[in-house]
Amino acid sequence: MVATVSVSDNHLRSQIFDLLCQVPDPEIPVVNIVELGIVRDVLADPQQVIITPTYTGCPATHFITQMIREKLDENGFDKMEIKNQLSPAWTTDWITPEAKVKLKAYGIDPPAMSADKHAQACCPRCNSTNTKLISEFGSTPCKALYSCKDCLEPFDRFKCH
Ligand SMILES: [Zn+2]
Repeated sequence: MVATVSVSDNHLRSQIFDLLCQVPDPEIPVVNIVELGIVRDVLADPQQVIITPTYTGCPATHFITQMIREKLDENGFDKMEIKNQLSPAWTTDWITPEAKVKLKAYGIDPPAMSADKHAQACCPRCNSTNTKLISEFGSTPCKALYSCKDCLEPFDRFKCH
């Protein structure tokens, strides 16, 4: 069966995507949930927002779902369902290049692509790769704490996942 997508369906999808771009990540407010790759798809029939949580059991997941619900309801899309899709699992490879630039500007070393996950951490302040792992757990479990041996500043690195 070939699904037919009408113009109005596409319009609805882009409207919803625009709204979801206004939902920030609760832990890193400079990036939104679409850029992070949490929003997988928006369906017009049945009306569903498909999301994949970043880390299973991450306390932010519940909060993100709640924020999406509020954003949809506020804009009259209360019939839109939010569906969690756990497989395939979320990967940091889904974070857009634009979001990685924002993470770096925010002082977080963005994750490398999983293909080169052994790449040295790079200091977001001075771009030095002369860095040292301090702790596997930074300010949140999805980040590791590093220190830069050149500018001597500590920084968070978003773990490749
Ligand atoms: Zn540095």
